[in-house]
Amino acid sequence: MNTTIETIQLTPRPEVARSRSPKPPVGVLDLNLEELRAWCREHDEPEYRATQIWKGLYTDLRADVGEISTLPAALRTRVADDLPMPRIEPLRSWKADGGATHKVLFQLHDGKAVESVLMRYEDGRATVCVSSQAGCAMGCVFCATGLGGFDRNLSAGEILAQILYFARDLKREGRRLTNIVYMGMGEPLANPRAVWRSIENLHEPAGMHFSPRRITVSTVGIVPQILRFAEADLPVNLAISLHAPDDELRGAMMPVNHRWPIRELMDAAREYTERSGRRISFEYALIAGSNSSIEHARALADLLRGMLCHVNLIPLNKVPGSPLEPPSPEAVRAFQDTLLAAGIPCTVRLERGADILAACGQLRIEHAQSG
Ligand code: SF4
Repeated sequence: MNTTIETIQLTPRPEVARSRSPKPPVGVLDLNLEELRAWCREHDEPEYRATQIWKGLYTDLRADVGEISTLPAALRTRVADDLPMPRIEPLRSWKADGGATHKVLFQLHDGKAVESVLMRYEDGRATVCVSSQAGCAMGCVFCATGLGGFDRNLSAGEILAQILYFARDLKREGRRLTNIVYMGMGEPLANPRAVWRSIENLHEPAGMHFSPRRITVSTVGIVPQILRFAEADLPVNLAISLHAPDDELRGAMMPVNHRWPIRELMDAAREYTERSGRRISFEYALIAGSNSSIEHARALADLLRGMLCHVNLIPLNKVPGSPLEPPSPEAVRAFQDTLLAAGIPCTVRLERGADILAACGQLRIEHAQSG
């Protein structure tokens, strides 16, 4: 993909900005195949070694270059020294839904922690929800990660390492990863270079050759990046976390709305669908007494009418320490019925693994509190 991606620097809220820790060293998962070939040339190795390394990591799902038996021992050592695998150690893991949902808290090289979730479905699908940042600067009031503050961007290798960890788990069960959603901790479009590099590497035909149509990137609404996204060569799905139909309410829930209010966001979303020809998803967390009345549903329908879109309604997953609650099942149904009656396609998505603190950031906070 030749898309030009610039890193957007959003200023973290002062109360959540913390000192940055060092970036992880550039490792083998941070490189694309061409860069790996160049590394081989520079080290007087034949270029086909790059393909062997790539296949070992992304097709055979070896956890480490040292396990790729087609490589000479000296080369394995050299790659491990020069291009180390990212340090991402499972600290704790939780299972729910009879083991179908598996959430893992990973520790990174600098002690920061991120969460990823694997969700297995009875129809054979297996979706991993991956983090793109350690913490998050966006400060959404309903989100445990937002409450915990921002640490740093993840590298492409750290993002890929989360995905490959679960792909290996599935392989041991004779299953395959079918879908990837960038909806874990962090705002993916605030770390676009690493996110796009990870997507490109997943799609590389010499390795996983993962279909971009099975990848969804979620954003709170970083407008300039949405417009760049529309021109990306790979048809990745885009999901916008909307959560409110008007600026007053959305601004109170999501500080990003002060920078890019709803009108600008909707203009970008329409432009995205027109330029890309792809449907856009809107995520809408339903919160009792806040954004879930019939009036809100009508206002949402007015906002989205005529757009190539789909709405995912998500009854809020309760965050420990937060007074916010999901609405009743009847209120959720009434909200959905109002949208459907207005011709807006929508489904209710039930959070998986509510009993293992499934909302993003909750495990990290729970772990920190438990010392
Ligand atoms: S909902 Fe997403 S963007 Fe908002 S604070 Fe949480 S992780 Fe960040």
